[in-house]
Amino acid sequence: MQFNEVLKKLSNYEPGKDIEVIAREYGVKEVIKLASNENPFGTSPKVQKILQENAAKAHLYPDDSMSELKAKLSSKFGLKNENIIIGAGSDQVIELAIHAKLNSKNAFLQAGVTFAMYEIYAKQCAAKCYKTRSLTHDLAEFKEAYYKHKDEIAIIFLCVPNNPLGECPSALELENFIKEIDPNCLVIIDAAYNEFASFKDKTKHLEPKSLLENFSNVLYLGTFSKLYGLAGLRIGYGLGGAEIISALYKLRAPFNVSNLALKAAVGALDDEDFCQKTLENNFSQMKRYEEFAKKHSFKSIESYTNFITYFFDEKESSDLSEKLLKKGIIVRNLKSYGLNAMRITIGTPYENDRFFEEFENILRA
Ligand SMILES: *Cc1c(COP(=O)(O)O)cnc(C)c1O
Repeated sequence: MQFNEVLKKLSNYEPGKDIEVIAREYGVKEVIKLASNENPFGTSPKVQKILQENAAKAHLYPDDSMSELKAKLSSKFGLKNENIIIGAGSDQVIELAIHAKLNSKNAFLQAGVTFAMYEIYAKQCAAKCYKTRSLTHDLAEFKEAYYKHKDEIAIIFLCVPNNPLGECPSALELENFIKEIDPNCLVIIDAAYNEFASFKDKTKHLEPKSLLENFSNVLYLGTFSKLYGLAGLRIGYGLGGAEIISALYKLRAPFNVSNLALKAAVGALDDEDFCQKTLENNFSQMKRYEEFAKKHSFKSIESYTNFITYFFDEKESSDLSEKLLKKGIIVRNLKSYGLNAMRITIGTPYENDRFFEEFENILRA
């Protein structure tokens, strides 16, 4: 069968491996997943209760105006409903934005190594991809690349903090960069981990309201998948000027988010203790990972997220992650990003103990 020509150039996203699948395939009893940056404390008990209370409503279509969650988000961020779009993960908002802007005659700009979905969606539109030379976000290089290809570039992606490397430019650096950009070029600020960066360093904190007031071309993305612990429900959001949001709405399928996900997201925003516990655990446990890296002379970039990335010299990341898998520990091999590195999600103290124990044995063998 013949399909659209662009499909030939597309590759699939390589997702983190699933716990049940690994348990079955490798015959291990206990599987620890430190691969997809999910919340190590699971679903917050308050949200679990909300899900149970709403379990009998799965036969109903969701409220397509999403008024309850939008009210919650607008008060959190000081914005209006017209500034908000909810998606099945912020991934879906990325997809809508790309489809709204990119085509075979234009291009987008991103860091050398960043979230793989930008390029995957952009290729669906046959758009050209420009990357900075540096793997991490170097805004001087972004500026240089932008001016060089100004007529073509229709979207700039800033992943702050960056997945899978963990670095994060400051809010001030970002604003100074965005000032240079033509208002017709969409600047997507992917803030999937920004709560983590804000907690560690206030200079990295982004305020969507002031960004939207200062720049008509910014689309800010947030997700419930990481800090809020709802990755399995698929829910995230985009914040932008009314012009951008209404353009995205034209491409949105009706009922794109489930009613249970909407209820859970409202509950997750209310559960501040759960978020606080997650953030504190993350950065106290991160120190252990930094010490482990030092001890074994692995390079790593200072991380403002809920994961750390180790780079290897002699050892092979593919071999190491396969050996960990056999022990029931799932990490993210970054081979598909062209790196001899692995990304490890910071787990609970117990999960991290298990990781250090098994990894130490593998390295010593
Ligand atoms: C996890 C992640 C997202 C979005 O995840 P969803 O589950 O689709 O909300 C977006 N960007 C980055 C960089 C991420 O790591």
